[in-house]
Amino acid sequence: MSYPDNFEGFAVVDSHKKWLSPEKVVYPAKQFNPRDVDIEIEACGVCGSDVHCAKGNWGEMKLPLVVGHEIIGKVVRLGDKCDTGLKVGDRVGVGAQVSACLDCNRCNNDNEQYCPKFVTTYSQPYFEDGYVGQGGYASHIRVHEHFVIPIPESLETNNVAPLLCGGATVYSPLKRNGCGPGKKVGIVGIGGIGHMGILLAKAMGAEVYAISRSHAKEETSKQLGADHYIATEDEGWETKYFDTLDFMVLCGNSLSAVDFGKLPKILKAQGVIASISVPDQHEAIHLHPAQLLGFQITQSCLASRAEIIEMLNLVAEKKIKLWVETVPISEENISTVFKRMESGDVRFRFTLTDFDKQFDQFKAKK
Ligand SMILES: [Zn+2]
Ligand SMILES: [Zn+2]
Repeated sequence: MSYPDNFEGFAVVDSHKKWLSPEKVVYPAKQFNPRDVDIEIEACGVCGSDVHCAKGNWGEMKLPLVVGHEIIGKVVRLGDKCDTGLKVGDRVGVGAQVSACLDCNRCNNDNEQYCPKFVTTYSQPYFEDGYVGQGGYASHIRVHEHFVIPIPESLETNNVAPLLCGGATVYSPLKRNGCGPGKKVGIVGIGGIGHMGILLAKAMGAEVYAISRSHAKEETSKQLGADHYIATEDEGWETKYFDTLDFMVLCGNSLSAVDFGKLPKILKAQGVIASISVPDQHEAIHLHPAQLLGFQITQSCLASRAEIIEMLNLVAEKKIKLWVETVPISEENISTVFKRMESGDVRFRFTLTDFDKQFDQFKAKK
């Protein structure tokens, strides 16, 4: 009942009434393949997706469900075909993707997050054998080495965790749209991912516009490094900033409050709106073709391995610090953290810590 055959984690056992009451469960580990890596988990960020999945917002999921895909830990075992240079004892991260075919045109061009055989870290069956992975609120995870990212030495475990999904997800569209000196970039929605968006866009050299509904986040956005702040509850903002931005990234966890009539007006002609928001399954964007005049809209997904490595190097080089609140992992604390995520009561991201205290009996012998 223990490692290496079984892992232990905190799971949602009922996505309706009891989603706020996770319970400790033991579950069988995935079959160990020659390019797999076993990781003893030390910390895990709490992503908005964790809450969406726990609540069942994205549809029914196989229960019990251990969420968490901003994982930092130590390598404890390597398959004999591993060749990315990892060693036992290395500190590594795992984000929201754990598999892809690694053979198609997309995979061969740093677009593995758009591979038709994409598998998410938890809740989605693997194509080969139907095994359903569990996430990082757990003692261990077993992952193909392509999705295991080395962590630069200077970065702190608890501070770097949220970059593995949230940070990477906003970095990819920033990078692909040419974020850098001379570019004017909008970050729409100043929450967990939005705060990372401001920090990263600024570090990449862009002029950053933080965009939010009210003025409530103006002060913190400036502290994070935003050069400008737009509150969309103000009268006439779309005229004042007409034709200003090269592109913008939508970082909120819902699109229902986004005004697609006004927002595109502040873009230059054919500017880009990249959304990384994955709202409730029942939410949809309804746009008349005339509303699409003169801009482009796209949905961006996670980031490639190459982009995650590049982002972590940037964060190390520029000494970027996320705003993270750490919370020791436990049933009670996960419940509290989920509630606070729901009410937006976090500046700006949680990292669950102290895994060794909860999963002691499962640690591999050192
Ligand atoms: Zn995530
Ligand atoms: Zn592929």
